[in-house]
Amino acid sequence: MAMTFPFRRSLPGGWPEDAPPRSILASLAPYGCSGEDRESLGSYLNRLCEEHEMTRWSLTTVIVGPTAEELFHVSSDRMGRDIGRAAYNLNISGLTEQANHWAQTLNYLTLRNNLQLCTLLPLKNLVSNFVLLSKKGRFCPGCYENDVRLGRDCYERLLWSIAAVEACPLHRFRLVNSPQAKKRRTSKRENGTFTQEPSTQYKIAGPPTHVAASELEVETSRLIADLLDDAVYFSEAGYSATAQSIFLTHAISLLFDGVSAHFAAHLGISKSQVHGWIKGGVQMSFPRLVQTAYCCGCAIADILLGNSVMLSLRPASSDHQRPLIQPGGTGARRPQAELRAELDALIRSGRAINATEAARSLGISLKYLKRNFPQQQEWLVAHGHKLSESLRREATDSFNDLYLSEHNALHAAGIYPSRRRVLKRLEGEAIPGTYRRVQQAHLGAFAATAVKMAGSGKRGKAICPDSERLKR
Ligand SMILES: [Zn+2]
Repeated sequence: MAMTFPFRRSLPGGWPEDAPPRSILASLAPYGCSGEDRESLGSYLNRLCEEHEMTRWSLTTVIVGPTAEELFHVSSDRMGRDIGRAAYNLNISGLTEQANHWAQTLNYLTLRNNLQLCTLLPLKNLVSNFVLLSKKGRFCPGCYENDVRLGRDCYERLLWSIAAVEACPLHRFRLVNSPQAKKRRTSKRENGTFTQEPSTQYKIAGPPTHVAASELEVETSRLIADLLDDAVYFSEAGYSATAQSIFLTHAISLLFDGVSAHFAAHLGISKSQVHGWIKGGVQMSFPRLVQTAYCCGCAIADILLGNSVMLSLRPASSDHQRPLIQPGGTGARRPQAELRAELDALIRSGRAINATEAARSLGISLKYLKRNFPQQQEWLVAHGHKLSESLRREATDSFNDLYLSEHNALHAAGIYPSRRRVLKRLEGEAIPGTYRRVQQAHLGAFAATAVKMAGSGKRGKAICPDSERLKR
């Protein structure tokens, strides 16, 4: 049946009035029923495309986009761009307004009402977006094998899109990065039934994929899967600084005799950070939430709701104690003698080009470096300055040489080597950003050659700022 815009879920002519409404797209049920195995919306969209034997692009531009435009006044083109990106699955399964448009539009088209559960939208008001989503597509080999065994499509789980999830809580394998090449679906429709095509199963080149995850990784993933389930029930409550504060105060008094510094040390973070959380000025990032739940032996929901539950202290892992973004930072816990030896070796080998680089390779902060190794720090700072100065000089010299050669080339061709002409010939080269350095090269070139500077009446040496003005 040809569909015309706008799509209405009305009954075709001649159908009884009391017949149930019909969906525009096949009303597929999403796979999975819990936080551990629920399908992501990106994966659902893929299956929908297959069901209709359309590409993602066609389905979006012909049906989903125009419907979204009608329902939410979002541009159909933008919907097209959403799925054109390599990370489209993460884009439309996340917690943005964009994901909401996708979920609601697909709900409308398939006559379903719960596709938003295939996105992270239930977490939207509860947790910080900071370092939440994984940057890469990943999968659990055990889950895919299970899908094949059960004769269904290998589908992507929503849980895998969260960066802090590193393992499958069901199979206890570490998640594997999805291959870059487009993955073909593992089943196709034949005579109305799905048949598996073993030859098109996912293929991964490289290291073995079935790597057992650590207890910490499995437990962390389980906590997050539980949150996906729990969040459905209290997402409306939203993030509450008070709840966060109540929980932390409770945990610190129960597990650390009320000393927040001990709690900070246990988590491997700074005291001021914990202070910010307790005072309510700072929202805990998602990885820190998970870490705190793990270390205190409670659910993530308990922290978000400020529940004063029974807690048990679990040792933080060194995995936890690394900073969220920059590697390093755990060096301060290593013996001083060891750090000193490593630092001296770095300096001797010439690998430490400045204080920042040295601190980073040792995994310590600049402040720590300065406090504990003042001599080395001083040397590194001076060395860093000297190095950057010489690099700058080198760059200037090579630019000046380049400028001069183009200047000469123009002159040899009988063309006046104006700055504009020389710069034009230098297009594509690294040209210094400052006017002063270009000007120096320009004047230098005139000084080095016998070319007479237009309008100045002077030869060469004129390193005089006025000469440029005169030339114009
Ligand atoms: Zn699995």
